[in-house]
Amino acid sequence: MSEKRNGFIRFDNIDEFETYIKNLKIRRKINGLQVHHMALPNYACFYKSKGVTEDELVRTINLDYYGKSKGWSCIAQHFNIFPNGKITTGRDINKTPVGITGWNANKICIEIYGDFDKNKDVMKVEQKEAVIAVYAILCEKLNLTPSTSTIRAHAWFTSGGTYLGDYYKGKSRKTCPGTNFMGFGNSRRAFVNNFYPLIKDYMSNRSSSKKESKEEVKEENKEKYIVRYLQSTLNKVYKCNLVVDGIYGKATKDVVKKHYLKMGDKGEHVVWLQKALINRGYNIEADGSFGNKTKAAVMSYQKSRGLKVDGYVGVDTHSAIVDD
Ligand SMILES: [Zn+2]
Repeated sequence: MSEKRNGFIRFDNIDEFETYIKNLKIRRKINGLQVHHMALPNYACFYKSKGVTEDELVRTINLDYYGKSKGWSCIAQHFNIFPNGKITTGRDINKTPVGITGWNANKICIEIYGDFDKNKDVMKVEQKEAVIAVYAILCEKLNLTPSTSTIRAHAWFTSGGTYLGDYYKGKSRKTCPGTNFMGFGNSRRAFVNNFYPLIKDYMSNRSSSKKESKEEVKEENKEKYIVRYLQSTLNKVYKCNLVVDGIYGKATKDVVKKHYLKMGDKGEHVVWLQKALINRGYNIEADGSFGNKTKAAVMSYQKSRGLKVDGYVGVDTHSAIVDD
């Protein structure tokens, strides 16, 4: 449950954040969202010792003191996203932030807790999901389409406030939000190819499958959201913490590569395969046991799709199924 302290609110999940944003009265024009990482505090500050995390509201209140110590009226940013996926409010949404020199007017400043430069903190999946959701929910509220004109990294600006349009080592003010931000980095290319599509995908899927993205995909939607169903299954079976985003990309393929299916396998991943084959016309049972009949169906399917006919269900056979 969300909590309020010293005027700041902590949201424990995206639904709480979404409800808050829905009801939020915005009285200034907002046409852009900033992307930052805190660098310090980093993950080591958050996970003080094994299993003990920092209090998100205490940290937020301290950031407010920090802002005041710098001569600002209060905390610089509007939202903070923590490593565990929790979110806190900061500055009044109707006040201009102190985030990017030259790009503060009409903007929202979001600080992501951690240091995401190469070889530093690796963003946890809970935080990743929260980041994508926060940007998507704000874009929807403000009627913004994710692009280089609406969502910009701090690293794309000089300290004097000149817009460079990309991260240039030496010219950019800093690396913020990190050279390995979310695993793809802080470059314009990384945002165009990875960050904006993730936000857009969240926006287009969230009305119909908001709940499924978190838990299991509902039975009647399993074929429609076959990649999400695969991802949530892989997470359940192999504890691999994939973002359930419906994109059959590198992270999902890597898990499939490691856990390809073969004769003798049992469990939920096999059920996923069997249901997909049943939906593609094969007369087998979804009993979670990869036996002779499943193998024969797999081989017949592989033949029909021009794949190597070996009865092993690896990356290529998974690809064919999700593209079907
Ligand atoms: Zn920054």
